[in-house]
Amino acid sequence: MDRTVQLIDLQNVEFSYKPDAAPVLSILEFKVQTKEKIFLYGPSGSGKTTFLEVLAGVLSPQKGRVQILGEDLSVASASRRDHFRADHLGYIFQSFNLIPYLNVRENIELPLSFSKTRQSRLGAGGLEGERQHLVQSLGIEEFLERPVTELSVGQQQRVAVARALMGSPEIILADEPTSALDSDHREKFLRLLFDLADEKGITVLFVSHDRSIQGLFSRSVSLEEINRGGR
Ligand code: ADP
Ligand code: MG
Repeated sequence: MDRTVQLIDLQNVEFSYKPDAAPVLSILEFKVQTKEKIFLYGPSGSGKTTFLEVLAGVLSPQKGRVQILGEDLSVASASRRDHFRADHLGYIFQSFNLIPYLNVRENIELPLSFSKTRQSRLGAGGLEGERQHLVQSLGIEEFLERPVTELSVGQQQRVAVARALMGSPEIILADEPTSALDSDHREKFLRLLFDLADEKGITVLFVSHDRSIQGLFSRSVSLEEINRGGR
C-alpha cells in the first residue's frame, strides 16, 4: 500500500454552478506531492479559478473527494473548511484582493489573525522577524505604513505574496497573479516566489493561461486534459 500522504489528492470530482447544467469540472484524478511547483494551464473560461476554489474548500463539489494534507474537505463543514484554509493555504488572487482600508503591514499580517497555527509557525524572530524577512526579500520594506491603494500593480502583487507566505502555510494557490506584468518581471516575480517557498518547503500550485512561464515550474498540467467535463 502507498503510505505517502499526497499533499493534494482529488478523486472523481464533479462541480457545477447550477444543478442541471453540465459540470464545469469533472476530474478523475489530480495529485500533488510536497514541494512540487505545479503549473496548471488552460484558456480563459476553462475552469482554473473554479478549480482553485474547489481545492481551497471555497466551493464544494457535488461529487468526489478533495483531500488536502490528508483531510477530506468534501465532507467537512463550511466552518471547518474556513479554518483549514486559514491554517494551511496561502491564496494569491488574480486581482490580489488586498484590503483597501488597511496599510501594507496590516495586510501582510492579516492571515495570522485568523490562524493560531500560522502564528505558531513564526520563526525565532517572531512576527517582526518574519515580516521583515519577507518585505526585504520582496523589496517592499519602504512601503510598510503606506495604504495599499497607493501602490503600483507590481508592488500590490508583492504585498499579496508576502501575505500568502506569512506564517508558512503548506500550500500556495496562485490565480494568474502575473497577468499584469511584462515578461521580464513575470520571470523575476516567479523566481522570488519560488525562493521564498523553498525556504519553508511550501508547495506551489499556479494557474495561468500564459504558457510562456511554464518552463520555470517542476511540472505542467493541462486542465483541459484532466477535465473530461470541459469538453
Ligand atoms: P478561468 O478561471 O479558467 O477563466 P472560471 O473558473 O472562472 O475559468 O470559469 C469556468 C466556467 O464557469 C466559465 O464558463 C464561467 O462562465 C463559469 N462560472 C464561473 N464562475 C461562475 C459563477 N459564479 N456562476 C456561474 N458560472 C460561473
Ligand atoms: Mg480565472
